[in-house]
Amino acid sequence: MTDAKTNLLGMTRQQLASFFAELGEKSFRASQVMKWMHHFGEDDFDAMTDISKTLRQKLKSVATIKGPEVVSCDRAADGTRKWVVRVASGSCVETVFIPEDKRGTLCVSSQAGCALDCSFCSTGKQGFNSDLTCAEIVGQVWLARKTLGSAAVGSHHRPVTNVVMMGMGEPLLNFDNVMNAMDVMMDDYGYGLSKRRVTLSTSGIVPAMYKMVGRTDVSLAVSLHAGNDELRDQLVPVNKKFNLHKLLAAIDAYMKSLPDKHRVVTIEYTLLAGINDQLHHARQVGQLLRDVPCKINLIPFNPFPGSGYVRPSNNAIRRFQAVLAEAGFNTTVRRTRGDEIDAACGQLVGAVQDRTRRSAQYRTAQKQQAEQAIRLVEAAQ
Ligand code: SAH
Ligand code: SF4
Repeated sequence: MTDAKTNLLGMTRQQLASFFAELGEKSFRASQVMKWMHHFGEDDFDAMTDISKTLRQKLKSVATIKGPEVVSCDRAADGTRKWVVRVASGSCVETVFIPEDKRGTLCVSSQAGCALDCSFCSTGKQGFNSDLTCAEIVGQVWLARKTLGSAAVGSHHRPVTNVVMMGMGEPLLNFDNVMNAMDVMMDDYGYGLSKRRVTLSTSGIVPAMYKMVGRTDVSLAVSLHAGNDELRDQLVPVNKKFNLHKLLAAIDAYMKSLPDKHRVVTIEYTLLAGINDQLHHARQVGQLLRDVPCKINLIPFNPFPGSGYVRPSNNAIRRFQAVLAEAGFNTTVRRTRGDEIDAACGQLVGAVQDRTRRSAQYRTAQKQQAEQAIRLVEAAQ
């Protein structure tokens, strides 16, 4: 059953102000209601005591505050949490919370599945199911904040201090919803996160990266995975459309658009044994990025059944890191968290579908969908 009422959880302050204006109400109601929803996790209009009873009644008749439907919630020994939530299309997506010493990072999904089919990614293998609405994206933060609170308590208990759009899906292929959702995350009446603490990760949808210029100032992470086009074409098929040359130009344009010149792009590089983890690969990456102010985050491959890839040994990972460090790059290795609950990058399978039954016809349809999505982004430029 579809709900015709507007879900206020997915509205930016500006959109809410217009919403209240249409109801004949003052625009400050927008910040009032946002505070209730996002600061206090409230979803019941009747609890909003600084709003008149008449307005509450009016709101109840046209609007709703609807958080995600939680299918499951797991907690690993290291404090990592994973929620599986159902979205309107019927698919499921995953949200992962990673507590660390000084911060708590929430990894948020932007699409159910992904059409881009990177060869080492479990979400990609599942294909594309649907775009998440803005409410479904914000709802993941809402849920985590509601569960974890906003104050640090105990050693494994951290509030959400950072959001990374690194869950399921390619955020730049769901541009407007992701941008609006990040606006809510950064709004003082929303989650009040600074632009440095909200990171968008992309596989390199070049036209959409140019669209980010002037629209947002969040931190940027780019999934590189290879230092040459031939290899990247195989690992990240969208590289055939937007090659490394175009990708580097788009990174440069976005980073230059940020007023603070000290900010750097994060380069993500998933290490696959024998594929892209050799010393000559590291040298090539160093060469490619020599003029790019960046930090490099190496992600040891997280295996999933039937992937055909293997995680490199710790030694191989260290050697790769050393080459880049020697070349002057700030290079970190991402620690795998929440192993027993399958919460690591690329292990998010969400819709829990039987992928073995996917037909060749289905794969072709996926490819067409990806191309269509990219065309839409290009057309909107
Ligand atoms: N679609 C976006 C964001 C989601 S993926 C993107 O591709 O950037 C977040 C990160 O996890 C990306 O860098 C992605 O390449 C990486 N990743 C995907 N599958 C992985 C796996 N099995 N092991 C390790 N990293 C993986
Ligand atoms: Fe999509 Fe990112 Fe996975 Fe590639 S790595 S298939 S872009 S979610």
